[in-house]
Amino acid sequence: MSQARFPLAPGAVIGILGGGQLGRMLAMAAARLGFGVAVLDPDPGAPAMPLAAHRLTGAYDDQFELLKLAAIADVVTFEFENVPAQALAVLEAAGAAVAPGARPLAIAQDRLAEKTFLGEAGAPTVAFAEVNDPADIVAALERLGRPLLLKSRRGGYDGKGQAWVELPSEAAGAFAAIGARAAIVETPADFRRELSVIAARGRDGEIALYPLTENHHEGGILRRSVAPAKAAPQTAAQAERIAATLLAALDYVGVIGIELFERDDGRLLVNEFAPRVHNSGHWTLDGCEVDQFEQHIRAVAGWPLGPTHAIAHVEMTNLIGEEVNDWARLAAEPETRLWLYGKAQARPGRKMGHVNRLGPLR
Ligand code: AMP
Repeated sequence: MSQARFPLAPGAVIGILGGGQLGRMLAMAAARLGFGVAVLDPDPGAPAMPLAAHRLTGAYDDQFELLKLAAIADVVTFEFENVPAQALAVLEAAGAAVAPGARPLAIAQDRLAEKTFLGEAGAPTVAFAEVNDPADIVAALERLGRPLLLKSRRGGYDGKGQAWVELPSEAAGAFAAIGARAAIVETPADFRRELSVIAARGRDGEIALYPLTENHHEGGILRRSVAPAKAAPQTAAQAERIAATLLAALDYVGVIGIELFERDDGRLLVNEFAPRVHNSGHWTLDGCEVDQFEQHIRAVAGWPLGPTHAIAHVEMTNLIGEEVNDWARLAAEPETRLWLYGKAQARPGRKMGHVNRLGPLR
């Protein structure tokens, strides 16, 4: 029940909002530590459902299902950031322990709040400005220079809801292209690499940080991650400072994914953070003793965090759409670990699974 006492003992129930692949892998980690799992997702066929003893089907703002979840689960977490903030409020009002909390979720859902928070916390970002109409874009071009990247404040992910603007005459068209929604504009990041850092903070404030990951996107979707990424010691140290600062400023409990740009001089900018386990941390499933999913379960359950150093070099490749049909060949590859999400339909752009190709540490 909801009067949670931490650390949770095995047998307690972890509630997960969202039943996608991240929820599925969280459920597997929870099961391994002896916890029960409750999943709430609008889709009864969602990937995490077969792993959950308690399957709740309903919208994320379905009051009745949320109250059921609060009653069943000893702690509730979430696997994606578009859970309505109201859902967490309902859970908390019902006495459920929710981790990470409502604040990191609310900040990550709004690019303006996120960039503002990052700046206030002392994390370096590109320059940005608030946009509510095309005139704001024109003013920003004047003030910040050109080009600028227009991003909707909410609901955009994997590069959706974005448009570059070069000239004042393009402002109206770009604003319409992202759906004429509240937005921000950003200056170009001028990066040579995209990196990410997966970090965790326990209930006692303990912090653990995985090695940096180098990420490659195609068509706005993560295609490949390589870890540990080769990086200068001062770059790794900067990532560590950024992660520690953000986790403390958010009073965070759980795993966070922080997306970074590395500039030519090795200095890092923060692009955004995801208040959850992250696709660029899937390499840890086979590259670390305690992977990001187990780490997240440990953190929200009030357990000590586990080791985060790499025990192998890993190249993680997402299997997108029909690529998953190659499973038999991939399963036969030596040093390749195959993770499939159990999704029935391989639609284009849909993440169906991933492979971790292992090699010796370099
Ligand atoms: P986001 O939705 O913010 O994760 O952005 C998606 C992708 O767009 C990133 O992974 C980058 O490749 C690119 N991007 C985002 N912001 C910028 C920026 N300010 N300058 C250049 N590229 C960017």
